[in-house]
Amino acid sequence: MDFALSSQEEAFRKEVRDWLEENMKELPEWWNNPDVLRPEVDSEEYHQFSIWWHRKLYAAGFIGITWPKEYGGRGRTIMEQVVFYEEIAKHRAPGPTNVHGMGWVVPATLAFGTEEQKKRFIPKILTCDEIWCTLYSEPEAGSDMANVQTRAVEDGDDFVINGQKVWTSGGHYSDWAVLLAKTDPDAPKHRGLSYLLVDMHSPGVTVRPLVNITGSHEFNETFFNDMRIPKHQILGEKNRGWYVAMGAMEFERSGTAAAITRENTIKDLIKLAKETKHHGQSLSKDPAVRQKLAQLYIEVNVSKYMDLRGLTHLLREGRPGSQGVLSQLFGVELNQRLQDFAMYLQGPYSQLMRGSKYAIQHGRWQYSFLRSRGNSIETGTTEIKRNVIAQRVLGLPRE
Ligand SMILES: Cc1cc2nc3c(=O)[nH]c(=O)nc-3n(C[C@H](O)[C@H](O)[C@H](O)COP(=O)(O)OP(=O)(O)OC[C@H]3O[C@@H](n4cnc5c(N)ncnc54)[C@H](O)[C@@H]3O)c2cc1C
Repeated sequence: MDFALSSQEEAFRKEVRDWLEENMKELPEWWNNPDVLRPEVDSEEYHQFSIWWHRKLYAAGFIGITWPKEYGGRGRTIMEQVVFYEEIAKHRAPGPTNVHGMGWVVPATLAFGTEEQKKRFIPKILTCDEIWCTLYSEPEAGSDMANVQTRAVEDGDDFVINGQKVWTSGGHYSDWAVLLAKTDPDAPKHRGLSYLLVDMHSPGVTVRPLVNITGSHEFNETFFNDMRIPKHQILGEKNRGWYVAMGAMEFERSGTAAAITRENTIKDLIKLAKETKHHGQSLSKDPAVRQKLAQLYIEVNVSKYMDLRGLTHLLREGRPGSQGVLSQLFGVELNQRLQDFAMYLQGPYSQLMRGSKYAIQHGRWQYSFLRSRGNSIETGTTEIKRNVIAQRVLGLPRE
């Protein structure tokens, strides 16, 4: 592993750094000051703030860094993209939004889409003019994703969709979605699915809110009642949707900046321990607290090197590969340990949420503690990730 950057990459790092230092002055005070109350994550104000910042990043040429110029990308290297996300994390700046669009819809469209689909969809994802969500999970198809029952029946030039999806993150403000639906009910379940691109404003789509453990409306139930999708909105071949979804998920499971975000969290925990007093003494002087902080600090560094190992794989093979699941699993569980310790440090104050005048930093840690529980479910549960590691990384038998 070579940690040195080329002169072009160093120049790009400086470009990102200079831009962030100048433009972060425009961020609202609540962004970087934990003592100022921030808008709720599910508020319109927060949503509009995320789009505003995303478009500034786009205008500066930092969105779609590795994607081809003809679809609105910058046509640069993976390392430059890594550098960009590292600088975002180091500066604690907001990242891009349209997470599903950027995270897997664009990579899947580039890999499986037609030329018309690439030209039609990718530029609007990059500019955030069209926000995307993901319609995979159903009440009886979560971990067993291939068990989806939502039907897509051919009728003339369209597919007609009937069924129900669940846990649709951002479905209430999305314009488009990727949908996994059954096109051949008689085929073995992995071979009868298709991957369709859905206009969420079509007649026959109903989105109903679901409130998560933090009290926020982040995901939804989505119902389809005779919704029509033109046949040209299929991504890849009919009945091969499972393989498109698997290809897209490989991108979902890769990532390199998360370790720096965890580094920020451990620094914040050290600060919290210094500022929190127990019997008049700073908690950072308590040997048990010091030991735990040191242990978490070691684990944060382990996660950094695991991410770098995944990055080496990506640079050599051109795709993240199932190796990425190792660092993702470790990172998810480590974040939960970090968040648990934030609650421990706050003692009885850990019970106070946003809205209480005694809540530490307006309950910011309570939100991130509760939200971190979902990390071990979304994008595949930790049990499923362990299965993937056993079978695909270690090559162990299924039984
Ligand atoms: C915050 C959040 C956001 C989400 N956003 C989206 C979204 O935008 N779009 C979308 O489509 N879905 C989304 N999901 C859904 C998510 O993908 C599913 O919740 C997840 O795949 C698990 O499915 P399930 O909830 O049906 O649990 P189940 O599959 O019913 O699992 C229940 C338990 O059984 C375990 N289990 C199941 N099968 C096995 C096995 N073979 N081996 C070992 N253990 C097993 C699981 O690990 C789990 O502990 C989101 C979920 C969360 C929490």
